[in-house]
Amino acid sequence: MTDPKPRGIPRVDLPSDVRLDTRAVREGLPASQWGENSEALFLTSSFCHPDAATAAARFANEEEAFVYSRFTNPTVMMFERRLAALEGTEACIATSSGMSAILLLCMGLLKAGDHVVCSRSVFGSTIKLLQGELGKFGVESSFVSQTDVGEWRGAIKPNTKLLFAETPSNPLTEVCDIRALAELAHGAGALLAVDNCFCTPALQRPVEMGADLVIHSGTKYLDGQGRVLAGALCCSQELIDKAFMPMMRSAGMSLSPFNAWVVLKGLETLGIRMAAQSERALGLARWLESHPSVARVYHPGLASHPQHALAMAQQQGSGGAVVSFVVKGEGADVARRHAFGVIDATRVCSITANLGDTKTTITHPASTSHGRLTEPQRLAAGITQGLIRVAVGLEDLQDLKADLSRGLDALSA
Ligand SMILES: *Cc1c(COP(=O)(O)O)cnc(C)c1O
Repeated sequence: MTDPKPRGIPRVDLPSDVRLDTRAVREGLPASQWGENSEALFLTSSFCHPDAATAAARFANEEEAFVYSRFTNPTVMMFERRLAALEGTEACIATSSGMSAILLLCMGLLKAGDHVVCSRSVFGSTIKLLQGELGKFGVESSFVSQTDVGEWRGAIKPNTKLLFAETPSNPLTEVCDIRALAELAHGAGALLAVDNCFCTPALQRPVEMGADLVIHSGTKYLDGQGRVLAGALCCSQELIDKAFMPMMRSAGMSLSPFNAWVVLKGLETLGIRMAAQSERALGLARWLESHPSVARVYHPGLASHPQHALAMAQQQGSGGAVVSFVVKGEGADVARRHAFGVIDATRVCSITANLGDTKTTITHPASTSHGRLTEPQRLAAGITQGLIRVAVGLEDLQDLKADLSRGLDALSA
């Protein structure tokens, strides 16, 4: 890849062969002249230049330097470099939220008359953004099955520019085949973007399987403790320079340095958190599968999961930390009452729709994240009234089982 602009901002001095766990803790910029060990938080909106000619060169983008925090800030850059290293991409651009990363993706790549193919099972706001907001500007989208590659192939048109996938899906943890979708996209002259929020690069690196762009909601596992909103888009340096940085400069969906600092520090523990939370989730999933009040359990680590083999191959043998399950109960009203009963009987889990936190969260998708759909739309998506989603945190597994037992045992008593 040619790089016309001299890259004046040095990297932290690491041996070139250090492994991912080391990069997760160390990648970024060198320390300032004060030698701080923990990365500095640069709360400044602008940066000073030694003289007017240098300022002119920097504004003309002829010299790489920090100029203004809408598009360049050292703390934000440390986060971008560290996440790019983990995803195995040349570059990364940070955004104010996961949704603004998807907005930047679309605004940077698409124009009126272009077409997007997207899974029907992606995050609800992503569907609303593509269908509603981008539809208004003449970008057309088709929504297809999460798991049937044939449907993706059938939806491709001459003006298809982007395939958008999210795997595993929320809340049913359906897995799509990244390699197959990448091949399909490239055969059609389009790009594949993967929302890697559920697995993070600790478990899944879409670019190694052929994806061109990776989307993150930093709000979830990258932060890891439910503190700030953040987002990121990882891809080639060429796409950042040509498509995304100019859009960021003009549109300003920038990540604040404070939020970047929080998520940057979160990345240092990402690998061990994902391993520990996924291990607890698998333990909980297996236990739920054997509970007499539970009709069905969704977790990619279970042998009963329809895409178990694909998930294990794509996700480095891990099912991730989200488990969903259906409580028994005849008819929608009874199932809903039972699900509410299990949720309300918990005393450790947090009743909230967020995920990726060290605190386990529990939610009823049919009345919260999918509450705005009609009942037939919900059923088509597999979101029944008995469904409960648990995003497993770092509490003791025995305590989580006891927390869910309270309500589940009452149903089978
Ligand atoms: C939460 C989420 C988003 C949106 O991220 P925000 O940071 O809340 O804007 C996008 N994709 C997935 C899969 C998510 O879970």
